[in-house]
Amino acid sequence: MTDSFFQLSANLASIAKGFHTRGWLLGTSGNLSAVVQRDPLRLAMSPSGIDKGELTPEQLLTIDENARIVSNHNGKPSDESLLHLRVVNDRGAGAVLHTHSIWNTILSDLYASDGGVKIEGYEMLKGLQGVRTHEHSEWLPIIENSQDMPALAEVVGKTLNEHKDAHGFLLRRHGLYSWGDTLAHAKRHIEILEFLLETMGRTSLIGKV
Ligand SMILES: [Zn+2]
Repeated sequence: MTDSFFQLSANLASIAKGFHTRGWLLGTSGNLSAVVQRDPLRLAMSPSGIDKGELTPEQLLTIDENARIVSNHNGKPSDESLLHLRVVNDRGAGAVLHTHSIWNTILSDLYASDGGVKIEGYEMLKGLQGVRTHEHSEWLPIIENSQDMPALAEVVGKTLNEHKDAHGFLLRRHGLYSWGDTLAHAKRHIEILEFLLETMGRTSLIGKV
């Protein structure tokens, strides 16, 4: 394990613990990845079926561009590795994070018939890379969930191409994906989008008094 891989793995484990504490990665759900090197592509990826609150740096796998493990591990990479690889390839992302929060699950279903969630007018939008004003309108596409990962990766690629400014997407009744140039940016994007989805969800619940 190189120093840079170890540092990246330590940061991924730390983020996993933080997100788990917030209830975004319960029951071994969700997954995290970061680019270790581009050529050939190597991704540090969370293993399948591990409690994200107890993930250690040593458990992070290294996978190649076909989601095959190239590190000395017996574990299985996350089933959703193909989606991470698609985001890395199509967006040039340095890290991809995927959460299963209650609010992103609820809104991914509530707005599914619209094809996405429009988020606008919130100060917190400025935490998304390239956004300078609360007047920004963010479209978070919603993709129908599937267990056929190669097929789902194709739909993700098509969606990313159709919505080039999107900072994330939702899988219906499943969860949120976001990414960034760096792991720190990806973490911030997840925090911002989770905050905004929860705000919209709670607002619709309370209603106007
Ligand atoms: Zn998932």
